[in-house]
Amino acid sequence: MSPARRSVALTPDVRFAPDTFVIIAGPCAVESREQLLETAAAVAAAGAHVLRGGAYKPRTSRHSFQGLGAPGLDLLRDAAMRTGLPIVTEVLDPRDVDLVAGAADMVQIGSRSMQNFPLLREVGRLRKPVLLKRGAAATLDEFLKAADYVAGAGNEDIVLCERGIRSFDPSVRNTLDLAAVPALRRACPFPIIVDPSHGTGRADLVAPMALAALAAGADGVMIEVHRDPEAALCDGPQALLPGEFAELVGELRRWAACSGRSLPVPEDAVRREA
Ligand code: PEP
Ligand code: MN
Repeated sequence: MSPARRSVALTPDVRFAPDTFVIIAGPCAVESREQLLETAAAVAAAGAHVLRGGAYKPRTSRHSFQGLGAPGLDLLRDAAMRTGLPIVTEVLDPRDVDLVAGAADMVQIGSRSMQNFPLLREVGRLRKPVLLKRGAAATLDEFLKAADYVAGAGNEDIVLCERGIRSFDPSVRNTLDLAAVPALRRACPFPIIVDPSHGTGRADLVAPMALAALAAGADGVMIEVHRDPEAALCDGPQALLPGEFAELVGELRRWAACSGRSLPVPEDAVRREA
């Protein structure tokens, strides 16, 4: 028998719960004011519930764009105010936890940090939801033990994110392990979402795998969107254009209805469809 399911609320309207399906969307990285505000407006209009965007980016090479840092957090706050969307953004360094948590509605622990135990303990003392991404080579047992570091420090508002694991096939960036969704469901009370953007690394595979995540019982998805993927400073090949994202939200809404989950429709989208 699966454990009782826990609901995690970001705001009174946005809740990860058994009867909802939450869509997180936005750019991989906050690159500039114009880029973020334009993308934020587009994903909000398309029906996203949470805005994502990295101000601190974990990059394999130190020569790659590392994110705007604290000014990126200010831009995220501005975008949140303009769109009304709560934001999720990554914290990389235990010393930045209070700064990032001050700006974010949900704090993300990225794949590379899944076993950064001091960082897990730091976000465990927050009174703010934590999005914990699976390490690219982490077993489900290790993933659950990482979540337990956060819970053990006092914060049980945890959402787990399957984001693909490293495998042998270079035709995809990662292998999206969708069986992790029902397997984690049996093992823990936390909501589980899927990131098909990092999970495949390919924009053409994102929509079908987002729909498959819904069918596998996920509580939401996280999708990277960029106004000009070819010019993106990070992860362009996996970014959807705003129009492609809007189309995907429409499909998710139809399939969510079949599985008895609600996808809150924002006011102006209701007006547009009327
Ligand atoms: C991200 O979501 O911004 C990210 C860096 O993903 P991951 O940690 O899964 O690689
Ligand atoms: Mn990315």
